[in-house]
Amino acid sequence: MLDVKEAKLALRDTDPEIFALIEEEERYQQDSIRLIPSENYVSRAVLEASGSVLTNKYSEGYPGKRYYEGQLYIDQLETLVQDRAKALFGVEHANVQPYSGSPANLATYYALLEPGDKIMGMSLPHGGHLTHGWNVNFSARFYTAVQYVVDEETHLIDYDNVRDLAKSERPRIIVAGATAYPRQFDFATLGEIAREVDAYFLADIAHIAGLIVAGVHPDPAPHADVITTTTHKTLRGPRGAMILCKEEHAKAIDRAVFPALQGGPHNHTTAAIGVALKEAATDEFRAYGEQIVRNAKALAAELLERGFTLVSGGTDNHLVLIDLTDKGVTGKKAARALDRAGIVTNYNTIPYDPRKPFSPSGVRIGTPSVTSRGMGEDEMRRIAAWMDEVVASPEDEDVSKRVAAQVKDLCDGFPAPGLPAS
Ligand SMILES: *Cc1c(COP(=O)(O)O)cnc(C)c1O
Repeated sequence: MLDVKEAKLALRDTDPEIFALIEEEERYQQDSIRLIPSENYVSRAVLEASGSVLTNKYSEGYPGKRYYEGQLYIDQLETLVQDRAKALFGVEHANVQPYSGSPANLATYYALLEPGDKIMGMSLPHGGHLTHGWNVNFSARFYTAVQYVVDEETHLIDYDNVRDLAKSERPRIIVAGATAYPRQFDFATLGEIAREVDAYFLADIAHIAGLIVAGVHPDPAPHADVITTTTHKTLRGPRGAMILCKEEHAKAIDRAVFPALQGGPHNHTTAAIGVALKEAATDEFRAYGEQIVRNAKALAAELLERGFTLVSGGTDNHLVLIDLTDKGVTGKKAARALDRAGIVTNYNTIPYDPRKPFSPSGVRIGTPSVTSRGMGEDEMRRIAAWMDEVVASPEDEDVSKRVAAQVKDLCDGFPAPGLPAS
């Protein structure tokens, strides 16, 4: 096995500045507790595929129908990855070329809608994604967007409200998926609502793909016309995306990705997605998904015990949204203080946030990364205790320094996958 340091000798010689920055980032990823729920650690195998010579190859088109010669291996590769995606998610068709989650959603709209058609998605401040019709995004500029929200008391999606809104607005497509919703989606009911109003149903599972594969979140495949997902969040692959759909939409989806919106696929990414899909099809990955949820529940329980308010009162998935309004500290201030203490989170709006999006009342945390390091419920309770200390005195440098040292100690005991053990 090639030594990791050795593998980067050429980089060090050619470009010491970039080399040094990568080394620093590696150390940071090893020495901090990374709680951003959309992040993860990919395996060494995924990194190697991602850093391979496949980046040298142009292959516009699809297996067997390319616009460049020399596709002997690329065609085999892409077909293999498509087959793995179809098998893992139980779908009829897979497009593995989208550059990332946002372009995958754009391609889906392009495939199924005409400009100006109506998209109905979850509002961004209530947990939805920009590409689900938020006003500053293409999805609201080129299409007509209507947004559903969560209930003011429970912070849960009220499916009767969604149905009423769908009936009065008659959208062409209903989108389900979120970046900051700590509960499960009822894909069966959403699919039913879409059929009642003759709309397409898109399940955007970017955050929860790994949980679905592991069997700890309901599966949208029987209910959705199209499923989009990133590959770099709970699925633990490289940065990229996939569009999964029924055969009847295959042609439109493929044409939307290429030639409508993209050029050549990123073959090194396709290969790394394939490796991640192989890893995700194992019993170990199933156990990983189960542990992500157990860890999130343990973290939430300890935070509640310590007097934190959580949006929706807890979690069923990989993430927890903390409402800091009664702590007298903004999300931004808390997130900054936590980062100084070696705990990396992000500030986030909460539903019905009284504050502005650039300085909201919430902090969003999640367990995919710490679970990839092998941490369990005991470690989650320690992390919650540290968070409590830091958030109680966000300006106290002594507290953040002391916690940072303890964080480093804990991290030393849990080497991060993919990184050189330091
Ligand atoms: C992360 C995410 C996306 C966008 O993915 P990018 O790769 O950042 O473009 C889309 N939808 C949802 C629900 C997401 O969580």
